[in-house]
Amino acid sequence: MSDLHLREELERRGALLSGHFRLSSGRHSGRFVQKFRILEDPSAVEPIARELAVRLRRFEPEIVVSAAVGGIVLGYETARQLGTLAIFVEKDRGVPTLRRGFALRAGQRVVVVEDVMTTGLSVRETIDVVEKADGKVVAVGAIVRRSAVDLGRPTEVLLDLPIEDYSAEECPLCARGEALQEPGSRFSSARS
Ligand SMILES: [Zn+2]
Repeated sequence: MSDLHLREELERRGALLSGHFRLSSGRHSGRFVQKFRILEDPSAVEPIARELAVRLRRFEPEIVVSAAVGGIVLGYETARQLGTLAIFVEKDRGVPTLRRGFALRAGQRVVVVEDVMTTGLSVRETIDVVEKADGKVVAVGAIVRRSAVDLGRPTEVLLDLPIEDYSAEECPLCARGEALQEPGSRFSSARS
């Protein structure tokens, strides 16, 4: 799936919105990614995960690890196509951890899969959990990357979509008087 096709697919499904949005950072942007417009539909996840699996297979992964919640969906389908298990990291009292009896073998080859990589924090937390569990992160895969993130690992990204955001004072959309939307409350919370 080429970058262009993926971008069109995201827009067609309402996963890549254009308008005037207040991001969770408090800054304003003309674009917002609502990843669950993709993740809610297996027929959309399947070809995206297939492309990730094609790119990640050469790292010879033995297991896929992702971060709850969106990562569970993507990790599961990517693992299905790679023929591996899929486990996930979740927060326990705010601390990322493997629960539910999930475990890794010493040196087990792990690919970490993420839906939308914004600051890379979630992926870094997942890598830390894997390494503390003695796994070996051989590569990272993501559907969308929103900023330059150096994870110190081979990283396969299907679409680079850099954030263009502004402080409220400098926002050109505010200056044009466009109504501000709050995707965090109106679009995300009910679904995440
Ligand atoms: Zn604004």
